[in-house]
Amino acid sequence: MSRDGDQHFDVLVIGGGNAGLSAAARLLRKGFGHVAVIEPQTVHTYRPLLSYVGGGEASLRRAERTQRSVTPPGCTWIRDTVVAVDAAAATVECASGDRYRYDDLVIGTGLVPDDDELPGIDAALRTPAVASNYLDHAEKTWDVVNAMRPGGHAVFTVPRPPVSCTGTTIKPLFLAAGHWRRSGLLPGVSITLVIDRPHLLGVPAIDARLSECLQELDVRVLHGTRVTSLEPESRSITVGTGEQLTYDLLHLVPPYRGPRWLQTSGLTGDQPHGLVDIDPATFAHRDHPNIWAAGDGAAVDTDPSGGALRRQIAILVDNLAAARRGEAMTAYDGYTVAPIAIDRHLLIAGEFDRTGAITSSLPSFVDTTKPRRSAWAFDRYALPALYWHRILKGRL
Ligand SMILES: Cc1cc2nc3c(=O)[nH]c(=O)nc-3n(C[C@H](O)[C@H](O)[C@H](O)COP(=O)(O)OP(=O)(O)OC[C@H]3O[C@@H](n4cnc5c(N)ncnc54)[C@H](O)[C@@H]3O)c2cc1C
Repeated sequence: MSRDGDQHFDVLVIGGGNAGLSAAARLLRKGFGHVAVIEPQTVHTYRPLLSYVGGGEASLRRAERTQRSVTPPGCTWIRDTVVAVDAAAATVECASGDRYRYDDLVIGTGLVPDDDELPGIDAALRTPAVASNYLDHAEKTWDVVNAMRPGGHAVFTVPRPPVSCTGTTIKPLFLAAGHWRRSGLLPGVSITLVIDRPHLLGVPAIDARLSECLQELDVRVLHGTRVTSLEPESRSITVGTGEQLTYDLLHLVPPYRGPRWLQTSGLTGDQPHGLVDIDPATFAHRDHPNIWAAGDGAAVDTDPSGGALRRQIAILVDNLAAARRGEAMTAYDGYTVAPIAIDRHLLIAGEFDRTGAITSSLPSFVDTTKPRRSAWAFDRYALPALYWHRILKGRL
């Protein structure tokens, strides 16, 4: 029940990551007057740059800004953590005990590691040979890559969906291998990729390119196999087949799920792994038309990514405005990206839709599945600038 005196917002946004901030900025640009973002963290990270931090090509400092500096002007930042949504009463409850009312709610809370499915993730990360660009340990990734010795073993993992930008889970392997090759350690270091899917991305043209690159590096690829246990004390993991793999470097991307309070708030429907139960064409919640969600933690029915969010947020905000006017909504085709650096200055700028068909924002004669130096330069230098100056400001 909403209490008298609870602060009310025209649109309340939960999560001040890529999805939440770009939605808030776009809403304000469209003339929505009273917009707030609830976000507990004081530092905002541009996650795509973490791959380059882990590959020794960027400093962590470049990937971070204060939350205050990236919160759009005119937007209220509530520094708190949401613990429940009461959709019937249109209220949100925070860890502090404060409650807020809304006309429309936008959820952009991302994913959390699923430590029920894989216990011991934090303990493993505290050991010297385990790192993860995905778990705020990108600087450590680069340290462990550098510490590799001739004849060592490196293991990289890719979990089942959902995970943020599947293509990026393979980036650390290629950037580490490129470094080892240049420093004379390759051939010599044995590399294993454990991938809990029957294919790499499920996009045949990109998968074929990546398979060639993995073969060239003599990577052992274990398809359709998940990590079943972490044994950091013996520097090993066990995989679904029962095989134990020892490592000198483990780059761990664990299984993920949506935050549990979304489930207990009744917002996840029958979605697996606690994703917000939206219509993936319109971003409107299937049961609550004034609740919207996009990004990693929403059932967007495509591989989630920052590139996907550029399109998702534009459509979500248009649809929210259209729904208020009683007008028809626009449909999202599942456009997403898989920018995969396959060496220091080479990148495949994969773009595809939810059917796995290649799409391209470049002229049709450009093959976006081909590794290119220009694509790498765009990903490494142009996109971060676009992110800070246009995407988070609701201009792109
Ligand atoms: C290492 C890495 C590299 C990547 N590289 C690329 C790339 O090269 N290209 C690309 O397109 N994409 C890339 N991505 C994916 C891209 O960064 C994500 O798709 C994007 O950040 C998702 O944004 P989001 O807002 O949905 O989730 P997040 O960025 O996870 O933001 C969620 C926010 O919600 C907040 N939150 C969570 N729970 C609560 C709560 N209870 N109350 C209030 N706030 C809460 C969190 O603190 C967080 O700030 C990468 C991701 C990672 C991890």
